[in-house]
Amino acid sequence: MVQVHHYDAVIVGAGGAGLRAALEAGKRCKTAVVSKLYPTRSHTGAAQGGMCAALANVEEDSWEWHAFDTVKGSDFLADQDAVDIMCKEAVDSVLELERMGLPFNRTPEGRIDQRRFGGHTRNHGEAAVRRSCYAADRTGHMILQTLFQQCNKEGVEFYNEFFVVDLLLVDGSCAGIVAYELASGALHVFRAKSVLFATGGYGKMFKITSNAHTLTGDGPGVVYRRGLPLEDMEFFQFHPTGLYRLGILLSEAARGEGGILRNSDGERFMERYAPTIKDLAPRDMVSRAEFFEIKEGRGTGPDRDYILLDVTGVDPEVVEKKLPDITEFSRTYLGVDPLKEGVPIVPTAHYAMGGIPTNVQAEVLRNHEGDIVPGLYAAGECACVSVHGANRLGTNSLLDLVVFGRRGGVAMAEHALGNDLLDIPDDAHKPSQDWIAWLMDGESLESSAEVRTALQDEMWDKASVVRTEESLAHCLEEIARLRQRLGRSKVKDRSKIFNTELVEHMELGFMVDMAEALVVSARARTESRGGHYREDHQLREDDHWMKHTFIYKRDDGTTELGYKDVVAGRYEPVERKY
Ligand SMILES: Cc1cc2nc3c(=O)[nH]c(=O)nc-3n(C[C@H](O)[C@H](O)[C@H](O)COP(=O)(O)OP(=O)(O)OC[C@H]3O[C@@H](n4cnc5c(N)ncnc54)[C@H](O)[C@@H]3O)c2cc1C
Repeated sequence: MVQVHHYDAVIVGAGGAGLRAALEAGKRCKTAVVSKLYPTRSHTGAAQGGMCAALANVEEDSWEWHAFDTVKGSDFLADQDAVDIMCKEAVDSVLELERMGLPFNRTPEGRIDQRRFGGHTRNHGEAAVRRSCYAADRTGHMILQTLFQQCNKEGVEFYNEFFVVDLLLVDGSCAGIVAYELASGALHVFRAKSVLFATGGYGKMFKITSNAHTLTGDGPGVVYRRGLPLEDMEFFQFHPTGLYRLGILLSEAARGEGGILRNSDGERFMERYAPTIKDLAPRDMVSRAEFFEIKEGRGTGPDRDYILLDVTGVDPEVVEKKLPDITEFSRTYLGVDPLKEGVPIVPTAHYAMGGIPTNVQAEVLRNHEGDIVPGLYAAGECACVSVHGANRLGTNSLLDLVVFGRRGGVAMAEHALGNDLLDIPDDAHKPSQDWIAWLMDGESLESSAEVRTALQDEMWDKASVVRTEESLAHCLEEIARLRQRLGRSKVKDRSKIFNTELVEHMELGFMVDMAEALVVSARARTESRGGHYREDHQLREDDHWMKHTFIYKRDDGTTELGYKDVVAGRYEPVERKY
């Protein structure tokens, strides 16, 4: 039996972006949030560093400097109209959260305190600036709690532990979604006048990642399988300070508070790569610097395969008070006391710059000409506005969530109030039902766990910090083989109640799609820019590549690429020096 629900607005995902959108929609129309996780378990809760806004609370700052840093950090691929909106609206967005009760750290005078973060500078690159607003190293946790409370206050309805598997389109407009209820195994159809996807990132396709297990790209996967494009998938961010071997994130705040990266000679090697802001250069540059230090034999440890993050020079009280999670993670997972010794770190797959293409109202684009899908919206990490271009600056994601989450919530409510529910066929849930039935029928000839591990290894070895035509071609062939193997793998657990094996199988399918989209897009881009570094095309080529990649999946399973020009603005592309 399938249950059918009717709403004005349905939001898929209960992280920062989903909740911020739900809050606006919930004030205006009948709104539901459908989430595979209990809301406060969303990955936003793991964000440590903070959320930036040019409040100028502790030193001079302006939204234009913030916009300049964002565009430069993006390696000039960000759309400058979207960046201006984000940086201007940042100030009010932080103050709004403060008024909702978010417990930001304070200056002695009682203002919201601010700290330094990579790539954020004063007056167009002169020196690092204090722009990140934070609540110790639990900013994302506080954002989730605050927004969840507010949504409950506004009467937003929550369907928790519901896994969205399909998007319903009628004549090219959005008519709703289909979800699988984990507790019962039942399918639910949510008819809605507008739907917003806010399903977060998809770093789980890489072996070493800071991302939670649940970040598998389901949202972009559902949209992509319905023939809609994904944008800039080749741009994935590798964060310079993941715990050695594990990838668990140590926030950039550690360097913001004075931490230093050292190689096996004890050298502060970032002085060579970014003489002005050194360890606080943008993440793509620092990760690459680490990669080359290790490759050239200056890594630390018995295998010379990691870098040391040294916070021994930082006041112990600051470490204990402002970076408690960092201290705890180092002690718990590596048995290292950061107050006494360096912490072993490596680059870790962290953030997806690409995703579901949208305009600045969070409306989803159906093609690279910029036409929209009426009633469909996306915001947060699963979306691509694009404010982060080829490389995101730290603390700009939490900001992106609240700015474009809010805009999406307002826009989807307006659309819902001006339109009727679209008629859908009685059997709209049938493709989902057939898919699940097929997964649960017959003998399994392959282990999905082995396919997952093979995918994560291959993506890490061939398509991460450094790429070449050869590595990407190899990776693509391997992905095709893994897709075939996955096709021979069935779910052995046939029960209906909390069948996590089924959910993980479906997630893996989406992850294979994300990996393929990333590699095909990366192979076509024969230049290096931001998080996408090609050893065989080391230069950025503005004459040819100031454009966003759009990838489409055709019905026969092949992929097709299209390109959309970057929206220019005040800042002309120049060489990125820090
Ligand atoms: C360890 C870590 C630290 C970070 N620190 C910072 C920081 O300090 N500052 C900063 O700006 N950024 C930081 N980031 C990045 C930032 O936290 C994320 O980009 C952001 O939180 C993503 O928010 P979101 O709302 O888009 O998605 P998420 O918070 O990931 O939420 C995704 C939601 O989608 C739902 N969902 C997914 N798939 C389905 C499905 N199939 N069906 C139903 N629901 C689904 C999930 O249940 C979840 O509720 C950090 C990221 C990590 C991993």
